Amino acid sequence: MNSNQVEQTCPLCEGTGWRPDETGNSVRRCECSVQRDIETRLRAARIPARYQHCILDDYHPYNESQEKAKKFSEKFVDQFPLVEGGLLFTGNCGVGKTHLAIAILKKLIEEKGVRGLFYDFRDLLREIQHSWNPVSQSSEIEVLRPVLETELLVLDELGANKPTMWVQDTMTHIINSRYNDKLITIFTSNFPDEKGDAPHRSQEGPTKREETLTDRVGIRLRSRLYEMCKLVEIYGEDFRKSVRQAGYRF
Ligand code: ADP
Repeated sequence: MNSNQVEQTCPLCEGTGWRPDETGNSVRRCECSVQRDIETRLRAARIPARYQHCILDDYHPYNESQEKAKKFSEKFVDQFPLVEGGLLFTGNCGVGKTHLAIAILKKLIEEKGVRGLFYDFRDLLREIQHSWNPVSQSSEIEVLRPVLETELLVLDELGANKPTMWVQDTMTHIINSRYNDKLITIFTSNFPDEKGDAPHRSQEGPTKREETLTDRVGIRLRSRLYEMCKLVEIYGEDFRKSVRQAGYRF
């Protein structure tokens, strides 16, 4: 055994992953083995490097909608898995939808041992399309299986793709399958739930987009999303732009 291996061997369990419990009559899992599991699950969750830093404590609300979104996120983590359904974060680009969704996913993996997965919906569609390539080793089902089966899925940028028939069918398949299996999904979308300046929205500027989420995903899927998720609308400035304007490099 070289000096590196000695350093890596846990002194509490000597690398077995098990150590005597408090009574001394039985054994329990060693902290090092629990930590290894968490790290494996975090890696398997496919969280992009640019979002690895996201935690709930570092989300700073600048208005009421952001305060509410943070509270919902914290409550969701506390109650999981006994939650009524998933979450659908909507709002302008840069208000922190992906930040919150990933912070929830990370916290649940770290604190509740949840198995979860992050996918940007555009990347997922691209991977499915590539899997059709006859020289590729993988098939569509190999790409889709973890997405359909994982305990907690974060699906980022719902509606970002042009809603062709194929995109519509693929979205429907994923969403319906998870709905039928009672699996929890967190969605984010830059498209608002309603058109224009609905009166209940703050002066801080709801999106000026003319297209709504319903236009992008279709009325049936929108109503399925209602059943599966709590809508969390976030308003505000693009955080990246505000930070740059304040003179910070981002
Ligand atoms: P969205 O998904 O709404 O487009 P992101 O979650 O991608 O926005 O946010 C863009 C960047 O700004 C991320 O790095 C995120 O961590 C950061 N960010 C956004 N809003 C906040 C906030 N209120 N507090 C702290 N960081 C934020």
